[in-house]
Amino acid sequence: MVKKVIGVVSLLIVGIGVFLALFHPSEGYQFSAANEKQQKTEKAAVSQPLASKTAKSDTKKQQAKSDLPKGISTKDWDLVLVNQDHAVTAAPTDLVQIGNYEVDSRIAAPYNEMAQAAAAAQINLVIVSGYRSISYQETLFQESVNAALAKGMTQAQAEKEALHLRTKPGHSEHNTGLAMDVVDDQWAAAHTDLDASFGQTKAGQWLKENAPKYGFVIRYPDGKNKITKVDYEPWHLRYVGKESALYMQQHSLCLEEYLDKVSKEAK
Ligand SMILES: [Zn+2]
Repeated sequence: MVKKVIGVVSLLIVGIGVFLALFHPSEGYQFSAANEKQQKTEKAAVSQPLASKTAKSDTKKQQAKSDLPKGISTKDWDLVLVNQDHAVTAAPTDLVQIGNYEVDSRIAAPYNEMAQAAAAAQINLVIVSGYRSISYQETLFQESVNAALAKGMTQAQAEKEALHLRTKPGHSEHNTGLAMDVVDDQWAAAHTDLDASFGQTKAGQWLKENAPKYGFVIRYPDGKNKITKVDYEPWHLRYVGKESALYMQQHSLCLEEYLDKVSKEAK
């Protein structure tokens, strides 16, 4: 009896197997074919946007290449990068006096031209800082360290404190002679210090809008301090040349971003 049941069950199983084998092999084949087809479509779908993406970014790159001012190089004298990570490598060789301050002689004419244009807009620009020698800056830095030490800080703490107030000697753009701090006579008369609200004054607005026409940029723009590592300074102008300045203004790039682009794309 048990043997009979087993016999019937195994017959059934074999029967089902034969039935499936006879009537469903094509389904199995179709499934794998469909699967293959689907894979092919997926591959095509994946490779197509990839291809068009590459084509797109190539065109973008080409556009960007032709977009940069011609003949620009990161080695140009007016594109020298000085920041927390890049120290000044050479002191300016030819300084001239404008007002009470010295600047690299090559930027005197563009500055004077800009000052004339500002005067025509009833804004009298005043330079409040220009070239600073590294040794002078070392003195200033040491003064800040000493003041912090006098408050009871350790040497390391005092140096950290001093770095908040002053740029590390050799790491300030003022060491290059290509930077100057510029306000107008009204600000100079009303303030003994510089602060970001200068950016809202008529002179601050005028500089932001017009300085690039003369080759100067607001070196530490609002919102770029994560890159420049310096807070917004609407008075700190840096000479980079007219074409680069206009490009940076148009594309809202700070010098770090611009030089990165130039080193990647300029030929
Ligand atoms: Zn400055």
